Amino acid sequence: PIEQQAPDPSKKTLVVLGTGWGAVSLLKNLDTENYNVVVISPRNYFLFTPLLPSCTTGTIEHRSIMEPIRNFLRHKVAAVKYYEAEVTKIDHEKKVVYMSPDSDSAGQLGQQELAYDMLVVGVGAENATFGVKGVREHGCFLKEVGDAQKIRKRIMDCCETATLKDQSPEEVKRLLHMVVVGGGPTGVEFAGELQDFFENDLKKWIPEIADHFRVTLVEALPNVLPMFSKSLIEYTEQTFKEETIEIRNKTSVKNVTEKYIEAEYTDANGQKQVEKIPYGLLVWATGNAVRPVVKDLMSQIPAQKDSRRGLAVNEYLVVKGTDNIWAVGDCAVANYAPTAQVASQEGAFLARLFGQMARTEELESRLALLSEEQSRAAKKEDRDEILREIKELQRRFRRVKQMGPFEYSHQGSLAYIGSEKAVADISWLTGNLASGGQLTYLFWRSAYLSMCFSTRNRILVIMDWTKSYLFGRDVSRE
Ligand code: FAD
Ligand code: NAD
Repeated sequence: PIEQQAPDPSKKTLVVLGTGWGAVSLLKNLDTENYNVVVISPRNYFLFTPLLPSCTTGTIEHRSIMEPIRNFLRHKVAAVKYYEAEVTKIDHEKKVVYMSPDSDSAGQLGQQELAYDMLVVGVGAENATFGVKGVREHGCFLKEVGDAQKIRKRIMDCCETATLKDQSPEEVKRLLHMVVVGGGPTGVEFAGELQDFFENDLKKWIPEIADHFRVTLVEALPNVLPMFSKSLIEYTEQTFKEETIEIRNKTSVKNVTEKYIEAEYTDANGQKQVEKIPYGLLVWATGNAVRPVVKDLMSQIPAQKDSRRGLAVNEYLVVKGTDNIWAVGDCAVANYAPTAQVASQEGAFLARLFGQMARTEELESRLALLSEEQSRAAKKEDRDEILREIKELQRRFRRVKQMGPFEYSHQGSLAYIGSEKAVADISWLTGNLASGGQLTYLFWRSAYLSMCFSTRNRILVIMDWTKSYLFGRDVSRE
């Protein structure tokens, strides 16, 4: 085997699970010299999710919003170990994690075990299906790069198949009906991007589909974007109407088959009706569910028994019922929405907390040493000198110990709604500023550009935007 650098026995082993918003923000801000840091994640890159909907239509190429984890870990002062593997179990009692590499080349390596002193769980969430049958088999999710690629291929597949010789009119109609389930920001942004793709490119390249291409957004609640202010909800619904995206509010999808969905709604007489809606592409964006590895950990800890949506944490993000496990992001329940903004602030908070803990431990061991020296010192002046040092250390100790709990600072919510319009609820001094339109779209672009992980990402995204603007989006099916 490749010779591995042995961990420093004088330091604790800090294992971080995941390479998403929470984990990467922690790693970016962490002083890695204080711990033996090990990162485990099946994904060896960070993904800038806010621009993922743009990858489904090729406005942005997926590699432009990916940043290899190794690229930034190599700049850390102390080496960080990374394993590309999925953690399948966390044993809270034994303080070990079990991981399996997700690679055919791993051969007989199988499951491996790794002990930790401190563990940060930042594994995110999986897609919710609410037990609706057929979603996994026939629908596309929109969470990972692979999902965006699948959708991009599927859009082109539908368009090309619809224009085949002798295609029946019903099939043409079905194939060109793009259905999005879930009117949260993921569903809304995707629907907007898709309609743009049709208006700006598909219509020109494949004029035969112009009369049949339709986008429908299905939402169980009375309106889309429930987390936005009322005026922006209305603005979004009005904009969708103008863009000819049909919104089916108060409609809940109960079953999915290969060619149609079954949607339940209440008719004008108050009767429940089920409608079969044929589709060519189905994108399922109904939010988050707890990952099995997190569920399993919760089942080991009695204090987690009432938690449903993820690991309940205290105000220092410590998983309740443990003293050496922390959780960040979508897998943690801390009374905040599961967003990138929350996850990254939590990660940065933990980096500060761990820095403080390392300083506290160092001061504690120095204090213990000095007390010992003081009790052994024979001369009074030596004892006094040591006492002075102890007092100084105690003063520093008190300062270090004063770190407050995690407090989330909400910067606002932003979403793209198509035809170069965006909506934004921005926290502004003491109030809230709600705005929608093309200026907001420019703000949306500049905000996301500035938030990109690296300068490399930023340049690639600008190049992609320019390319799409000048030459249109690429409609070739890979
Ligand atoms: P993630 O970023 O999902 O990362 C989880 C990590 O854990 C990944 O690296 C994954 O590979 C790894 N992992 C998974 N299972 C295991 C395992 N068993 N063992 C080890 N590692 C594992 N939020 C906003 O605030 N603004 C936005 O504009 C926005 N846009 C979004 C657009 C889309 C399309 C989506 C899907 C989400 C968007 N979000 C946005 C939400 C945001 O992406 C999430 O809240 C955020 O990613 C949560 O961060 P996280 O670190 O908890 O999880
Ligand atoms: P979400 O949970 O915000 O919305 C899912 C929607 O699906 C809900 O409105 C729900 O009523 C609906 N739904 C559930 N089951 C349904 C069914 N059977 N039929 C019809 N509708 C159904 O999910 P999301 O949009 O994926 O967002 C997940 C998280 O990521 C949220 O916290 C969100 O704020 C965040 N996010 C933010 C942005 C942004 O800020 N631009 C973008 C994407 C995601």
